[in-house]
Amino acid sequence: MLDTLRRIVQDINATRDLDEALHLIVAEVKAAIHTDVCSVYMADHTRGEHVLMATDGLRPGAIGKVRLKFGQGLTGLAASRAEPVNVENAPAHPAFRYIAATGEAPFHGFLGVPIIRRRKVLGVLVVQQREQRKYTPDEESFVVTLAAQLAGCINQVEIRQSLERLDDDVLSDTLFLEGVASARGLALGEAVVVFPATAMGLVPDKDIDNPETEASRFRQAVAAELAELQRLSERMRLLLSPGDRALFDAYAMLLGSDSLVNGTLERIQAGNWAPGALRATVLEYANIFAEMDDPYLRERAADILDLGQRLLDRLQEAQAVNRHYPDHVILMGEEISVSQLLDVPPEKLKGLVSVRGTGTSHVALLARGLGVPAVFGVSNLPPGRLHGREVVVDGYTVRVCIQPSPALRQEYQKLIAQEAELSRDLQHLRDLPAETPDGHRLELHANSGLFADIAAARNSGVQGVGLYRSELHFFLRDRFPGEEEQATLYTRVLRIMDPHPVVLRTLDIGGDKPLPYFPISEQNPFLGWRGIRISLDQPDLFKTQLRAMLRATVAYSNLSILLPMISSVGELREALELLRCAEAELREDGVPIQTPRVGIMVEVPSAVYQIDTLVRMVDFVSIGSNDLTQYLLAVDRNNDRVAKLYDPLHPAVLMAIRYVIERCQVAGRPVSVCGEMAGDPASALVLMAMGVDSLSMNLGSVLKIKWLIRSIRYEAAQDFLAEVMTLDHAAIIRERANGFLDQHGLSGLLRVGK
Ligand code: PEP
Ligand code: MG
Repeated sequence: MLDTLRRIVQDINATRDLDEALHLIVAEVKAAIHTDVCSVYMADHTRGEHVLMATDGLRPGAIGKVRLKFGQGLTGLAASRAEPVNVENAPAHPAFRYIAATGEAPFHGFLGVPIIRRRKVLGVLVVQQREQRKYTPDEESFVVTLAAQLAGCINQVEIRQSLERLDDDVLSDTLFLEGVASARGLALGEAVVVFPATAMGLVPDKDIDNPETEASRFRQAVAAELAELQRLSERMRLLLSPGDRALFDAYAMLLGSDSLVNGTLERIQAGNWAPGALRATVLEYANIFAEMDDPYLRERAADILDLGQRLLDRLQEAQAVNRHYPDHVILMGEEISVSQLLDVPPEKLKGLVSVRGTGTSHVALLARGLGVPAVFGVSNLPPGRLHGREVVVDGYTVRVCIQPSPALRQEYQKLIAQEAELSRDLQHLRDLPAETPDGHRLELHANSGLFADIAAARNSGVQGVGLYRSELHFFLRDRFPGEEEQATLYTRVLRIMDPHPVVLRTLDIGGDKPLPYFPISEQNPFLGWRGIRISLDQPDLFKTQLRAMLRATVAYSNLSILLPMISSVGELREALELLRCAEAELREDGVPIQTPRVGIMVEVPSAVYQIDTLVRMVDFVSIGSNDLTQYLLAVDRNNDRVAKLYDPLHPAVLMAIRYVIERCQVAGRPVSVCGEMAGDPASALVLMAMGVDSLSMNLGSVLKIKWLIRSIRYEAAQDFLAEVMTLDHAAIIRERANGFLDQHGLSGLLRVGK
């Protein structure tokens, strides 16, 4: 049975349109369970009817014509109950409804199974038999299993079909495609499709007699490429830090590495011409990386191919034609390489969309660093068909809209303009405090991790950096940065923000963030080796980082160190011990460091309940609502199947946060929130009312949240909180909070909420 099931699903996936898929389904199911009839009814929600879409056994002429009102007949019963209806003698059943057009009079045995996708009944799969008989439990479970699989296939086929219709420009419904990760923001523009470098594999081998000339030709290409990388790095100079531009160093390093250049030179010496030698070398290394299990290491394969293609273009003097880019580019591809991204003039690059890629790919990090909205992992996207089409990138809902209808385009244009206008209008708040009309003050801080946003933070109305995600620098490198390199970086960050505080978080890798050069393969990475657990198990790495942070205090006094993922008192004790050790060593060496403030992130439920002890061991607490929400609700923050369940306004999350804030207040230690929640208007309102001392968020949200704080009396917010804490549903809390903001004239903030 399982084989049959697999085969049917495979066959359906190979079909081109829904009709073909449904016809195939009915024929195959009928044959598989040796029954007399198999039909599919699909729901037409606009008319409230089930339509016979395909049948093998009933009259073909009835297809498309027979319509049953929702709830009508045994088919309607299966759909409305959302469960199988298995009846021995259908005509004798009270719900049976005879439809002459189908010619179903002779059939008695009936099994109708709803086709359900994400709680929505898409249709009903029906099998019928001439004799009176109940389908066996095995047959029923076969049809049920198939219907469950079909729901996914039908969805895929429908999407493919809509995309096909794009070619005829007759798309009536707007087509939204969902991705798995994004960089926030909205963009509307023209798709510019970039293709992976396929030409590489086609380069032939060719014998040569003059390896020296060929080798020197190759060396020249390498030198020219190095110079070009330098130029691209310059272009990004104002946007990214020297550290973050280390990506170019990574490419430069690949160019300087034995593997790529020497490998090619050796093959040239052995008698192959340069392009052939390069192809063989690049593919050899790219394949090694491509076959690795770790997704981050696989991404290196893309880097190698990208770089190899650039060299090949040079050797063949077919350098990337200077592309003409429209004014509003949405760069789109199966996979977008860093150099394809950098090829677009920054002022024209409005958005990014790719079939593959996760939120932590190099390109994703760069997109965030550059403030470009992006959606990654859009598995249904057929980039080949979309060049030149109008596309909306919605990084808030992690969706891409292809060829928006005029009304939708207008709506998005309005939202984009309003966003821009709102940020212009709010500029005057930049130097004003985040203080309620009745005098309650909060501090607003920035979340950062790339150099570009630190520099921007200095002038954007924040009073410090509340979360500096140090791991982002580690991602953009090919190895762990050394003490010297880190110390230079941290000193620069402190200097830029001086005298405002900077909270440097120690390495928080693992979970969804493994490093390319430090692969961790685990069944349950979010419950595995991550954050402080890695730091404590690798004290060499941890102490290097701590020493580097401490060395930054020689010149500046604004350092706070933040420890991520603390889940027990023992862990914190060990981490503090290592910190004391690092301090003592540096002092012994005569380095005049200052003692920094130290805090913990509360993002694991166990830390919530041990907060009384933990808070007394440190100077401050920062609540990581992103992880706290996922751990409290048992909802993976990156899994789109359960995305609807992920809401930091869930009453349990709010209770936990309120408890932590209260206990920190009792202990006399400041407490902040640094997860995405801090920048979400409805949540910020609730957090302010809870009495949090500071909120740390992405720069784009700072002025909006400041506007909110300056518009609402603290007392009113507290009354509102009292009401919120009696509610038992996240959606209701969000609705009430948004309503409250609306009443206070803040509807402008609500568009970009969850
Ligand atoms: C958090 O978990 O809320 C947080 C700020 O940390 P990160 O998102 O980096 O895991
Ligand atoms: Mg976290």
